[in-house]
Parts: sequence; C-alpha cells; structure tokens
Amino acid sequence: MNCEEALPLMHEYLDGSAEDLEAAQLKRHLLQCPECNRIFRELEMTDALVKSCPKISAPSGFTDRIMQNLPVRPKRQSWFGWVKRHPAVSVASVFLLVMLGSFLSMWSQDQELTVKGSNLDQLVIENNTVYLPKGHRVQGNLMVRGGDVQVDGEIDGNLVVVDGKYHTASTANISGKIYSINLAAEWLVYQVKEILSPAAQ
Ligand SMILES: [Zn+2]
Repeated sequence: MNCEEALPLMHEYLDGSAEDLEAAQLKRHLLQCPECNRIFRELEMTDALVKSCPKISAPSGFTDRIMQNLPVRPKRQSWFGWVKRHPAVSVASVFLLVMLGSFLSMWSQDQELTVKGSNLDQLVIENNTVYLPKGHRVQGNLMVRGGDVQVDGEIDGNLVVVDGKYHTASTANISGKIYSINLAAEWLVYQVKEILSPAAQ
C-alpha cells in the first residue's frame, strides 16, 4: 500500500467502514510510514474529539437576533442567492457556464498516455495508440490510460482502458475481462452532484 491509498482508507477505518483486509494493510503501512502515521494520529484525535462533543445548538432566537443586528445588505442579488431561487435554471447554467470551462481545461491538460503491464516490450506505441500485434502476448493485466488500444494479440489477464477507446481484432485473445473506464465522465458527474447539493436544499 502507498500513501495515496492509505489516506482515504484512514477515513474509512475511523468511520468503521473499512474491510478487515484493508484495515490490516493500513496498519502495516502506518507502521512503516511516519508521515501517514502522523496524519492518522491527528485524524484519530479529531475524530475522538468530535464524537465526544455533545451536539451544540444555539439558544432559540439567537440566529434571528444576529441577523437583525447585521447591517442591511445592498440590493444587488448575489449569484448564489439567484441560483437558490431558480433551482431548475441553475442546473443548466451552473453546469454550462461554470463547470464546462474548467472541466475541459482540466482534462485536456491531463491527457498523458500511461501504460502499465509486465512485459511492455510486446507493445507498439505510436502517437496516442497502444498496439498489441498478432502473435504478441502480454502476461498479466494491461492498463492503458489516456490513449487508445488496438489488440490483435493475446493478453493473459484483464485489459483496463481508462479515458480511451479500445478495439479488438478477430485474432485477439483476452483471457480476463475488459474494463473501460471514463474518468472524465465520472469526475463530471461527481462535480455536478457537488454543485447541485447546496441549491437543492
Ligand atoms: Zn504513507
């Protein structure tokens, strides 16, 4: 396990939702990695603190009194206020105006081709396409990210294609499964959900 995998697991572990195997792997990593160990101690303390605190609620009328004493706000409508009053329109407008711009730029920057597998000498990589010729054989799983895959040969495991297209010829033989994952789309769905949750209240 590396540090990148450890961090989300720490949260799961503290929530009590980590699997036994994952918990054991995490503990092993924490013994080896002082940095993650430090983070984990801090999270653990925060977690304990939050759980030990009784729910604090403001006395009744407290919020109203504060609001009344605030200076009167200028008439200009805030962007967020407008979104809250027009939840239906906000779906389209937030998505198109705010998200699409940053979404496109973020993902076009991150289109580096990544290939992972045990014997990559079997592959021919040209421009953004990973080609496994007929008669060539990859032992174990093959993972390609940010590019297209053309399989004419054999894969002795799974083919994982992230953010790219794949094509298998009639001569192709893949013993495992083919996973096609579109991180861009999944990331977008996640972001839109995040954006919509305050407006939906
Ligand atoms: Zn670590």
